[in-house]
Amino acid sequence: EKATILNGNKIANDIHKELKVIVDVWVKDGNRKPNLVAILVGNNPASKVYVQRKMKVATLIGIESSTLLFEESITQKDLMKTIDQLNKNETVNGILVQLPLPEHINEYEICQKIVPHKDVDGFHSDNIGRLSLNNDTLIPATALGVMELILRSKIDTIGKNAVVVGRSKHVGLPIALLLHTRCQGNLGGLDMTTTICHRHTPHTELVQFTKLADVVVSATGIPGLITKDMIKPGACVIDVGISRIKKGDKYKLVGDVDFENVKEVAGYITPVPGGTGPMTVAMLMKNTISVTIKNYQWKE
Ligand code: ADP
Repeated sequence: EKATILNGNKIANDIHKELKVIVDVWVKDGNRKPNLVAILVGNNPASKVYVQRKMKVATLIGIESSTLLFEESITQKDLMKTIDQLNKNETVNGILVQLPLPEHINEYEICQKIVPHKDVDGFHSDNIGRLSLNNDTLIPATALGVMELILRSKIDTIGKNAVVVGRSKHVGLPIALLLHTRCQGNLGGLDMTTTICHRHTPHTELVQFTKLADVVVSATGIPGLITKDMIKPGACVIDVGISRIKKGDKYKLVGDVDFENVKEVAGYITPVPGGTGPMTVAMLMKNTISVTIKNYQWKE
């Protein structure tokens, strides 16, 4: 029996429709459209595509959006000044800085500069701290997207085993936080027994952990890391890795999971592209709406 393919595009589209209804009501009530500003530095082609995609979905939902483009050579000081202006600008609801930034820019300081209540990526230490304590907060979109995908696909989680492969502060860690915490409606997680593996986990150990997992989430950017022999039959395999590999003279997007073979044993699997990527964008929109509409409650 083959795995059910979790269609991130379809679920994200459902979410877009739900969010559009909320924005329409908000605007009909005489409020200004939610306004999202993205900062894009340099010429990273993948970053450009990601920002374009985010802005396109924003427009679809009725969120106003704009992208500020800067040369690769922009200084830390000028970038900080730009964020400061956006922080003070009352017409701006959400601010996001597309990562990665050039080598000479300190990403941590840039993320810290965004006022926490406009930090739609949820990377500010105040927001991560609140997430760690299960307080209401802005949660990084990729992690929210993974959770929403699991919830909407009705995967059993309470008391089950999860393995997160990758421990980056923006992706792996917040995913692990959401998987392991207690389910409390809007604030909660998935109540799973959660293990975090990373580059120092010996591969033989990684296999031991993933074999016990009911949910495997991989976020390493290593194509083919997760193979069929590592997966418990029926498990849910979620691929958050995105690598651009050259095929002939074209680029192709691939995930961490050996999709063709893993789908033969897994119960559920996400494709790349069309799995977690669109979910991330949908959750960024959700965050933009929640910073705009005070007291906005994401559905239970
Ligand atoms: P992202 O921002 O998408 O999470 P990063 O490059 O910041 O990507 O992080 C990659 C993560 O993958 C790191 O936490 C690293 O420890 C983990 N990783 C790298 N190689 C392996 C491996 N062979 N096995 C398990 N985890 C790995």
